[in-house]
Formats: sequence, C-alpha cells, structure tokens
Amino acid sequence: MSNIDGYWHDSIALDYIYTLGVAGERFFREALNGRIMATRCDECSVAYLPPRLYCRRCFRRLDRWVEVEKRGIIYSYTYVSSGNSGNSGGNDDGDGGDDEYDGYIAYALVRFDGVDGGLICRIINKIEDLKIGVGVAVDIKVKEIAIVEFVAEIAG
Ligand SMILES: [Zn+2]
Repeated sequence: MSNIDGYWHDSIALDYIYTLGVAGERFFREALNGRIMATRCDECSVAYLPPRLYCRRCFRRLDRWVEVEKRGIIYSYTYVSSGNSGNSGGNDDGDGGDDEYDGYIAYALVRFDGVDGGLICRIINKIEDLKIGVGVAVDIKVKEIAIVEFVAEIAG
C-alpha cells in the first residue's frame, strides 16, 4: 500500500456473482455441449452472438436459435500477460507452447459470417504473428464443471 505522486497503488480483492440472464444461460449450456448458438430475427435477417432475447432493430422477441459454424475471422486482438485465473506469465497451462509468446497470451474478437457480434477467444497457435482478417477455427474447451473457454486456432 502506498500513495506516490497522488496515486493510490494497491489492489482490492473483489468477489461478485455474474448473472447470465435467460439467453446467456442457454448460450453457456449449449456451449457445454459443444455448440455455439445465436438467436436469429427472420424479420431483419440477422443473427446475434452473444444471443439476445430481443432484436435490437425491430424489438421483436427472438425465439429462434441457430447454430453458428465454428469458423470465423479475427476482427481484433490483444496480448495479455495474465491468464484467465489472473496468474502472470502467460497461459494457465504454463507449457510454453505456441499458445504463448514471450510470456504473453493472445485474445481475439472473432466474428462469424452472417452473425452480428462475435466471441472473445484465446488464440492457441501462431500467436506471434496475428493479423486482422485471418481465418480461425473456433473450439470450446470445458475447463471445469460448467466453465467454458472459447479458443481459436489459426487456419493453415
Ligand atoms: Zn428484427
């Protein structure tokens, strides 16, 4: 704990409960079974990922769920030095494989054809030369009971 140059330098442990909501709960249940699902509005010809209960264009309730093909493109990406569990120094597995680069791991916003939105995925290969627009194959890893992680592998 310190107060240097008028800034407070410390950390606060926070505990919270994130409620998924109706669409989010179904989305993650489907993910546990290996499916990426979106909701679709036929009036507007648009699918939403993450799924929404109401179309943001026409405000109709969305009851139609469609499976999203697990191929997308990198829309944006970033490198981080802490894994999902907050540990520093790369990926949780610590194996130094090609899902780590100089102690960093990479996350990307992956978008899918015909879908509004996308998924944040951890990139699991070739992370040293990521490029926007590169095709990826998306997969779902079940990390613990009822916890999933979306991962993407650079094609080719
Ligand atoms: Zn609509």
